[in-house]
Amino acid sequence: MSKVLIIGAGGVGGVVTHKCAQLTDVFTEIILASRNEEKCKKIAAQLPRAIKTAQVDADKVPELVALLEKEKPELVINVALPYQDLTIMDACLEAGVHYLDTANYEPLDTAKFEYKWQWAYQDKFQQAGLMALLGSGFDPGATNVFTAYLNKHYFDEIHYLDIIDVNGGDHGYPFATNFNPEINIREVTAECRHWEDGKFVETPAMSVKQQFNCPEDVGSYNIYRMYHEELESLTKHLPSIKKAQFWMSFGDNYLKHLEVLGNVGMTGIEPVEFQGQKIVPIQFLKQLLPDPSTLGPRTVGKTCIGVHARGIKDGKEHSAYIYNICDHQACYNEVQSQAISYTTGVPAMIGAKMILEGKWKQAGVFNIEQMDPDPFMEDMNKYGLPWKVIENPGFELI
Ligand code: NDP
Repeated sequence: MSKVLIIGAGGVGGVVTHKCAQLTDVFTEIILASRNEEKCKKIAAQLPRAIKTAQVDADKVPELVALLEKEKPELVINVALPYQDLTIMDACLEAGVHYLDTANYEPLDTAKFEYKWQWAYQDKFQQAGLMALLGSGFDPGATNVFTAYLNKHYFDEIHYLDIIDVNGGDHGYPFATNFNPEINIREVTAECRHWEDGKFVETPAMSVKQQFNCPEDVGSYNIYRMYHEELESLTKHLPSIKKAQFWMSFGDNYLKHLEVLGNVGMTGIEPVEFQGQKIVPIQFLKQLLPDPSTLGPRTVGKTCIGVHARGIKDGKEHSAYIYNICDHQACYNEVQSQAISYTTGVPAMIGAKMILEGKWKQAGVFNIEQMDPDPFMEDMNKYGLPWKVIENPGFELI
């Protein structure tokens, strides 16, 4: 009997709720809570079984604690925004509930993408006998597990790591983001950092690109080097890595819009005074852009997200590429969402399942690559994110 509280009723929250609802044996009771309960009720109405909904402001610890004490779930799945990570972790500690999220904490006023704030909770969670599992989405999430899996089964040591996130989907809008626009734009416009020879090296945002030919029929795309939070935890937990980079595909149209929006100040995160009101430009922009959770019916094409590693196996140079391909329309048909939310929501459900089934349950704060990858990988194949490994695939990245 496991009761779970999901916080956040956006694109990802919808998928997590659908997927948890499919596993009646594991998630025996589900509560979906968000700032706006109407959104929770809309998701609940799509499901084949009854779940509870609730209203909560996750910026407020006492509100969260009251909900946790009333409902007494075993685990919170946090798929609200990265700004709420610490308040939800505080509430979990106070109420004695395990915690899982898909994105690292970020202060509202600086785009940092660092784990230091959440890693600082290690002693508190350990002493409370509770688990906090960080970054159980796709990237971070499945990509970390892919790396741990390659490290366990295909290498003695990984030396070079490239995470490649291609979205070959088309939603037909001139400009829209596939997940929360504010978080997405903060991430894409941030200075690039990659790991090389024991330290992070900074380069301007979007300044390094190359072409990547996806396997199967996904196509060929320009991928751009950018910073992504899993680089910090992976290079900490796999110290054999000499160089680690993250690449994401962007269309020319997306980048042109972003450049113009940046040039006119619309992506700024500092408040500006407008007609006697303080407005944060990027938050206003979010208001104008299509809601990512509405892109599902109109998005066609596939995502291809994977990890390419080079290193040593049995004393010889070895390389391997591991990836998942996900079809936007197939996701929509299953859970009424496009593939970006799907590829995030399914690993969140699997991470939760790992904790509730006791396969990963430990006291403390953990990044997902610290866990045994095998049961998670098995479940990816079972629950909608099948993967393949190509050994010595014969391509080189910059
Ligand atoms: P959305 O903006 O679609 O959804 C966020 C939800 O959280 C909304 O329902 C929002 O409510 C709710 N929310 C925001 N603030 C609060 C609050 N203070 N209290 C309660 N609820 C709140 O985002 P996504 O679903 O696209 O993304 C969700 C999370 O997943 C983000 O943290 C994102 O960074 C992460 N993510 C991770 C990925 C990965 O692969 N690891 C990939 C994609 C996303 P309201 O509707 O009222 O605004």
